[in-house]
Amino acid sequence: MACGLKAVKSLNDLKLDFPALAQSVNGRMVAYLDSAASAQKPKCVIDAMTSVMTDHYANVHRGIYTFSSKTSVAFEDSRRKVARFLNAKSDEEIVFTRNSTEAINLVASGIGQSLKAGDEIILTELEHHANIVPWYFLKEQKGVVLRVVPMKVDRSLDMSAFEKLLSSKTKFVAVTQMSNALGTIVPVADIVRKAHAVGAKVLVDGSQAVVHLDVDVQEIGCDFYVFTGHKLYGPTGIGVLYGRTDALNELPPYQGGGEMIDKVSFEKITFKEPPARFEAGTPAIVEAIGLGAAIDYLGGLDTEAIHEHEQMLLREAESRFVVVSGVTVFSTAPERAAILSFSIDKVHPHDVASVFDQLGIAVRAGNHCAQPAMKTLGVQATVRASFAFYNTMDDVERLMEGVYKVKKLFL
Ligand SMILES: *Cc1c(COP(=O)(O)O)cnc(C)c1O
Repeated sequence: MACGLKAVKSLNDLKLDFPALAQSVNGRMVAYLDSAASAQKPKCVIDAMTSVMTDHYANVHRGIYTFSSKTSVAFEDSRRKVARFLNAKSDEEIVFTRNSTEAINLVASGIGQSLKAGDEIILTELEHHANIVPWYFLKEQKGVVLRVVPMKVDRSLDMSAFEKLLSSKTKFVAVTQMSNALGTIVPVADIVRKAHAVGAKVLVDGSQAVVHLDVDVQEIGCDFYVFTGHKLYGPTGIGVLYGRTDALNELPPYQGGGEMIDKVSFEKITFKEPPARFEAGTPAIVEAIGLGAAIDYLGGLDTEAIHEHEQMLLREAESRFVVVSGVTVFSTAPERAAILSFSIDKVHPHDVASVFDQLGIAVRAGNHCAQPAMKTLGVQATVRASFAFYNTMDDVERLMEGVYKVKKLFL
């Protein structure tokens, strides 16, 4: 059946929509607790992608023949689905990119062209490397100054420090809405209001937030918002840059090539309006359609119920973890979602993850592309269990089994 058209199911049945979750690993049904790195795909997304390629595949926007017009319609439908999903004002505010990383690079390189030495960009300690490195390039190329908002002891963002960093020198603020390393939720609407008051633009990195929160870009008020398809139950190779119409209009082209131009001669080239201006070359057609299918799939679920379910799993896991001696939980911000970052005394996170793997439990161990956050935590790495709506209490039990196994083996 197509995504989003199925009968409403009980939460415990949702796992059945994801073929990979029925696989076994080392003799046990997989307990997949690494959705923050990449989520599993429902069958209807896989089917939607197969269907484009088997039923009417062609390049988009060019052909006058049936295959091409059908594929173009499906591709542009996906843009409309993304626009509705984020509550953008129009489809033209949605640019397809390869992932969040490319979306942030697109904005940083465009914004960078109008910045000069001494201009300031504010980031936070909670950022993923994808929202640090592109801005660091501007520090190297332009001499802009990067200011960093610290986290507080409870691992929430220090909003009063943010306010102190804001000044007339602040030209841009790039901030995550939810930390992938800790699960901390950041009050982005508040940040946007304060940044706009000093004339700075704001990019919100929604890579994690779109999965676990209700996102409304108009309510947040940000100039730019990015997310990545593969964490939202869609395929890899497709990401989204939302830009408010005026903000996108002010941005110069990123990559040059076909599809983004108006007229080309060797003397002068003119460009299309956004979003086409930022979509040089043949786009990720099948992947964009897959992302649209993932959004349809989510549209068929009770969003409030699935977010509550994720919170329940997180709280349940946390309450069990904190009573186990030798376990340190790093995810402690009052506002947090879906992510449990922890360590087990004297055991390297990689060893924890490999013991878990022997039990068929998939968790991530490492710095989670967030070395500044790790530095503040005073560690090199953590173990991270992340929850999606398809996880169940059984997965929480498995997590506990893993913890006790590690303790037995190492302590
Ligand atoms: C995963 C992630 C990114 C990068 O996503 P890509 O798909 O690798 O581009 C950026 N920011 C956050 C918060 C993330 O979780």
